[in-house]
Amino acid sequence: MDKKTQQLTSDNYSGVCAEVLDAVTQANLNYAESYGNDFWTEQACSLIREKFECDCEVFFVFTGTAANALTLAQICTPFHSVIAADTAHIVTDECGAPGFFSGGSQIFTAPAVQGKLPAEAVEYFVNKRSDLHYPKPRAVTITQSTECGTCYTAAEIRSIAELAYSYDLCLQMDGARFANALASQRCSPAELSWKAGVDVMTFGGSKNGGMLGEALIFFRKDLAADFSYRCKQSGQLGSKLRFISSQFTGLLQDDLYLRNAAHANNMAKKLAVNLQQLPGVKLLFPVEANAVFAEIPNRLAEYLEQTGWHFYNFIGSGGVRFMTSWNTTSETVEAFLSDCRQGLNLPA
Ligand SMILES: *Cc1c(COP(=O)(O)O)cnc(C)c1O
Repeated sequence: MDKKTQQLTSDNYSGVCAEVLDAVTQANLNYAESYGNDFWTEQACSLIREKFECDCEVFFVFTGTAANALTLAQICTPFHSVIAADTAHIVTDECGAPGFFSGGSQIFTAPAVQGKLPAEAVEYFVNKRSDLHYPKPRAVTITQSTECGTCYTAAEIRSIAELAYSYDLCLQMDGARFANALASQRCSPAELSWKAGVDVMTFGGSKNGGMLGEALIFFRKDLAADFSYRCKQSGQLGSKLRFISSQFTGLLQDDLYLRNAAHANNMAKKLAVNLQQLPGVKLLFPVEANAVFAEIPNRLAEYLEQTGWHFYNFIGSGGVRFMTSWNTTSETVEAFLSDCRQGLNLPA
């Protein structure tokens, strides 16, 4: 691909942390029951219940897209709609999967404010129409941390949840980077999820040191009825599920998931603090998790590409995106910043 050993393109460019590989190796020592009826899956579910302080229903699927699409399809029938921010991954990066898996439900999008869904959007879409020609709002979705690298506070989630609840809507949370939000907000997992009114969430593993797979957590158990059938029908029930689930044991033990996320967040802070001092560079959002969005001079973008740095320029609301990960080194950030200075003809 390129000569650089690390990139700041995306957190899924990074590899798998040793503890996760160890947990998978443990799960590989002997035969075990298939389709999730195994010790390793039970252990991971117990750990999730313990960390979230909740007797929740837990499932595992292969991708975050499946995690979002299947949880939303579980809530929505084909004539329902989902209220989301226009920057939401389900809107911009899932190829229509939520509509496909629900058999037709639509997503209403509101302009995001710093990557977040404004609470007013819930009222707006619910009250806009109530006739049967309009897809009936049934779910609200938020992403934590957001696609713009910001985080909802527990109070912000609660105000959205209260509105959702008052209109009989469910609150789904895309937690592909939930650990980064936790590390940033210094709340407990419970405070930032069900205690704030989240009904069901996805809990990311891949972007935080896992190999693949996401956990699904139903805090409202009634919503999880027959969900295993949905996983199976959509090809998301792993027969050797223990190799997905055991990764979560590796991540959750000794709160490694939080340390991984805190490290990524710190590297993003370091990157942002130094980047914003460069002439012509402007940060687009507060850096609260592991993403840094910036407007940078065209000639700098070109120079960085030439020197082998890859980055996206179509995510969020313009600008370029840099992302740090659980194993981004200080040296990588420094090397990147030094190339930035070179690209701007500044002294190294
Ligand atoms: C990466 C990501 C996902 C999951 O994506 P997959 O590529 O399907 O695993 C979901 N939501 C957000 C916000 C993401 O960044």
